[in-house]
Amino acid sequence: MDYKDWSSNDFISRIGELEMVIEEIKKEKDQYELLNFAWTNNLGHWYWVIPANHVHFNPLKVTSLGYTEAEIPETVDYQFFTSKLHPDDFGRVMKVMEDHLSGKLPAYEVEYRIQTKEGGWKWYYDRGKITQYDENGSPKLVSGIVFDITNTKRLQEELLEKNQQLEMMMKIDGLTGLYNHNAIMAALDEAMQKARNTGEELMAFLFDIDDFKRINDHFGHIAGDHILAGIAKFILTQLRDNDVAGRYGGEEFLIIFPKTGEDKGIQLAEYLRQNIESQRFDGRISVTISGGIANFMGQSVEAIIKEADDYLYQAKNNGKNKVFGSNGYR
Ligand code: GH3
Ligand code: MG
Ligand code: MG
Repeated sequence: MDYKDWSSNDFISRIGELEMVIEEIKKEKDQYELLNFAWTNNLGHWYWVIPANHVHFNPLKVTSLGYTEAEIPETVDYQFFTSKLHPDDFGRVMKVMEDHLSGKLPAYEVEYRIQTKEGGWKWYYDRGKITQYDENGSPKLVSGIVFDITNTKRLQEELLEKNQQLEMMMKIDGLTGLYNHNAIMAALDEAMQKARNTGEELMAFLFDIDDFKRINDHFGHIAGDHILAGIAKFILTQLRDNDVAGRYGGEEFLIIFPKTGEDKGIQLAEYLRQNIESQRFDGRISVTISGGIANFMGQSVEAIIKEADDYLYQAKNNGKNKVFGSNGYR
């Protein structure tokens, strides 16, 4: 540093600043000897001298971003770091520092992304505290410590992603790939709630494969499984964007038709019935289904399922391979 142009006041304030920092370092040195922490990913301590807006720090804080020590300016201000913050984190970090300086928070403690020299991002965990005040009680020095938590964050994100995958897997029926019983019931509840709030129409279609026991007995359970999976696959190709299908039970399926009136719902159900009948599973096996379709009129989930089930029962009792709804056999 070129001291030639410095005034005595410059020197005095600089010396005051350095003494303050040295005092902090001495305090910490004692603590280190006492505790001898083995911190991992510790990027060292930093000291922000507020009146001069100078930050003194372990070069690791900047070299870990890909800069060389030579690239670090001789005097560094607070903005040197904040200008490298991720735009989504900037406001939050500033708020925490402001709240600490104004006494609203007992410490400055944040996690943030900071830009590397290459333009990538690292996650830092930063914690600091006002350690010295001036004679008027205003903060004069904030001392802190910073950690590189990029790896921890990456692991956290991976874990979050895995949890989401697991949650999804918990909702899916293994054989058919459709929603399982719990998931389709939850979807029905949600769709009915929405219909209740918006006044939109909704139809619930419950169907059951006819004489499936006989098919299993005749062709074997593996062939039976193929039929269940084949029907599910076919349904998925037919659903509109907001329709949801699930495996209600063994060989029973439930389809939700949101924003759908009675005539359209019956038409869709009837279309599925006819097209399932015309399929050949495993290249040779044909099956039929019987279904009941119920109109949402503000009733409960249990009530709409019961209605659809009653219609399904009527379809079975009237010769099977039929869809029944409020208008009787279609
Ligand atoms: P209905 O026309 O009255 O519905 O007669 P059904 O034979 O289909 O009805 P029932 O309830 O007597 O039998 C249902 C059969 O569905 C019995 C059961 O073994 C079979 N089933 C249920 N889940 C599966 C499955 O995952 N795989 C296979 N292969 N069969 C299943
Ligand atoms: Mg059956
Ligand atoms: Mg059944």
